[in-house]
Amino acid sequence: MIPYGKQTIIDEDIDAVVEVLRSDFLTQGPMVPLFEERIAHYCQANFAVAVNSATSALHIACLSLDIKDGDLVWTAPITFVASANCVLYCGADIDFVDIDPRTKNISVEALSDKLEDAKALGKLPKALIVVHFGGLPCEMAEIAALCRAHNIAIIEDASHALGAHYQGEKIGNCRYSDVCIFSFHPVKNITSGEGGVAVTNDPHLAQRLELFRSHGITRDQSKFDKMLSGPWVYEQHELGFNYRISDIHAALGCSQLARVDQFIAKRRQIAKAYSDRFAQTDIRFQMEESGFESAYHIFVIEVPDHIDREQAFKQLRDKNVGVNVHYIPVHLQPYYQSLGFKKGQFPAAEGYYEKCITLPIFPKLSQADHDYVMEVVEEICK
Ligand SMILES: *Cc1c(COP(=O)(O)O)cnc(C)c1O
Repeated sequence: MIPYGKQTIIDEDIDAVVEVLRSDFLTQGPMVPLFEERIAHYCQANFAVAVNSATSALHIACLSLDIKDGDLVWTAPITFVASANCVLYCGADIDFVDIDPRTKNISVEALSDKLEDAKALGKLPKALIVVHFGGLPCEMAEIAALCRAHNIAIIEDASHALGAHYQGEKIGNCRYSDVCIFSFHPVKNITSGEGGVAVTNDPHLAQRLELFRSHGITRDQSKFDKMLSGPWVYEQHELGFNYRISDIHAALGCSQLARVDQFIAKRRQIAKAYSDRFAQTDIRFQMEESGFESAYHIFVIEVPDHIDREQAFKQLRDKNVGVNVHYIPVHLQPYYQSLGFKKGQFPAAEGYYEKCITLPIFPKLSQADHDYVMEVVEEICK
């Protein structure tokens, strides 16, 4: 089966990990700050706080923005459940903004309308979590202008978008957001095994992210309340977690980051061949307009109207094409239905979900396999 995504590991990556195993520190050593420094530099952000997953990064991003019981946060329905779950972890309420059928990202128009309604009802969200779906940047300038007008914080879930560019600048520079998070799960653009990072330009938020990553504990004496004394003292100031990433994982992340541009170039080359070929057909795919450069974590198509998606999916799997579906709209999950969300609430997301299929895209996809996938997809979608 040709998978839809796969990591690229070379001897250099293995050597980097082995080196840590032979060193003094398996965790809380020098590789974590080094990885953070390199991520921050790559994204052109001031601070990076590395953690054990993007899910943890989303959770501490919400906590750092003081999202709590009684608050409301909005996100997109076409995303992995973690983009919404992180809000519920904080005891806050979640709601969704429908997608733009062209980009599959959050719709600026839907956001604007929903903000008007929310304002009238006195129920504005405290934060918006945008998702750069598939690696395609959201319309950040427009979204930020709308949010700023209502004092709404912005978190970017850029799990798909390491290496993407918006208006010529790297996603992760936080020009239009408070915090941006990335995932290093093996299927994502680079991997650390498991891992994630939160980047920000705000020193106060960076400190809070660090605090929540490690039990809410600080060892910085200048911040001590001084209720305790002794040279061994550390103080717990918040209810934090153990979300630390190990040096083993950080070393793999560092090694992979050195090749990220190479990975993205290959992904973009595969995506261009798909786009050129499918442009001649009724198969739809995410459009990259000028100023939006996707990192192509995934390549999603929508099958033509007359094609049954489930049947197409089965036929592709039967022909050894390891297709997938990204995503089941979060509000349709049983857990979210139990919270009161209803089918029909976000029609663009649901319409997309009826037709979407994710095709193989990853740096090591061979030309022969790529050609084979395009041929089979075209045949099945005729
Ligand atoms: C993968 C992913 C996550 C979670 O990442 P982990 O590192 O596996 O926790 C969150 N949001 C989106 C959009 C993702 O694709």
